[in-house]
Amino acid sequence: MRYSNTLEFAKEQDKKDPLRKFRKHFLFPKHNGKEVLYFTGNSLGLQPQGVLKNIKVELEDWAKYAVEGHFDARNPWYSYHEMFAAPLAKLMGAKPEEVVAMNQLTVNLHLMMVSFYRPTAKRYKILCESNAFPSDQYALQTQAKVHGFNVNDALIEIAPRKGEHLIRLEDIEKAINDNADELALVIIGGLNYLTGQLLDMPTITKAGHKAGAYVGFDLAHAAGNVQLKLHEWNVDFAVWCTYKYLNSGPGAVAGAFINERHIKNKELPRFGGWWGYDKDTRFLMKHDFVPMQTAEGWQLSNAPVLSMAAHKAALDVFMQAGGMVPLCKKSVALTGYLEYIVAELNKKIKDKKVKLEVITPVNPAERGCQLSIIAHGIGRDFYNALTKNGVFCDWRNPNVIRFAPVPLYNSFEDAWRLGQAVEKVLKLK
Ligand SMILES: *Cc1c(COP(=O)(O)O)cnc(C)c1O
Repeated sequence: MRYSNTLEFAKEQDKKDPLRKFRKHFLFPKHNGKEVLYFTGNSLGLQPQGVLKNIKVELEDWAKYAVEGHFDARNPWYSYHEMFAAPLAKLMGAKPEEVVAMNQLTVNLHLMMVSFYRPTAKRYKILCESNAFPSDQYALQTQAKVHGFNVNDALIEIAPRKGEHLIRLEDIEKAINDNADELALVIIGGLNYLTGQLLDMPTITKAGHKAGAYVGFDLAHAAGNVQLKLHEWNVDFAVWCTYKYLNSGPGAVAGAFINERHIKNKELPRFGGWWGYDKDTRFLMKHDFVPMQTAEGWQLSNAPVLSMAAHKAALDVFMQAGGMVPLCKKSVALTGYLEYIVAELNKKIKDKKVKLEVITPVNPAERGCQLSIIAHGIGRDFYNALTKNGVFCDWRNPNVIRFAPVPLYNSFEDAWRLGQAVEKVLKLK
């Protein structure tokens, strides 16, 4: 597409955007009485309009039915989580029986590792990325320790090469092959939170399986952002949170995928709880654990209905928008536009020490909507000044600013206005 750095062009694109009406489904914070430029949907997605109504329904039914609400509520609480199987399957590229909404992301990562990190004296290593999100690092370190291994020995961390920002697929494949005899698990962020790099999950999965390891992905930044085909890619398991691109609210209920190959395997060790117990005989309150034959068999506790009411409102919007195919189509164009705006800004910057370096891959197939930028020569002051001008973006130490134009609610005009805000802050006009 040929882009142009004018308000007319941006407005024209918005007029042609088949998803434009979804912006109205979301609540934007205000700055000086005007909607902010919100580019932090990668951190906390905006609140969908339907959330308040959905939560009110559950509060009313709780008041009206009390304990009977488990079966008599408009959305019976006993089976509330079952409403998520179809939409999550669509968004994650899975079968409905392979996905479940439960707990929170790091909790689910631990639960999956109970089943899929089964180290032996010889095969005990975990391969991950070097700049993994801290919570994931802590989860992997403590899992290795629980099994009695030395963390430095058990964890293989793949880093970008010296002087580079992104991880090379060939380096991941080589590390998998080099450690094939000792590798128990490959667990990587499918889309890196810091750089916005989307990894080639099917190729990594194949390589890991060839080495005899299980392969799982943390999809915190991929869920609701890029197209996923977890079943087709033959991934063993995956976990995600829902408060980022899935717009389900702070600390919202998370999700997990467990491949069809594993869901009926009663031999696979797991942590048990009553909500993972066979649904039809759960209330016989029998002594021995009989897991459900779906991903629900990994649930522990009864479902957090109030949190799920928000999740439901959020997923409804995704389904109305037609899922990830139309969203990704817009995302490629919109993020491409923001990338163009940044290139135009660099042309206008006269100070030789100042440069906005986009470190996210240029290829749309290797990224989602997020652009990560190193603001050379200005850094944190630049971020602070943007914030004062009603721009929501975020700063990650030591020097990365992240902008996520989200296709569900961001517009081309937002991207253009961001460029104008940067021009003002850097005194380019
Ligand atoms: C956001 C994020 C988390 C947060 O974990 P919670 O358990 O939801 O608090 C963990 N890992 C990654 C990769 C993330 O992006």
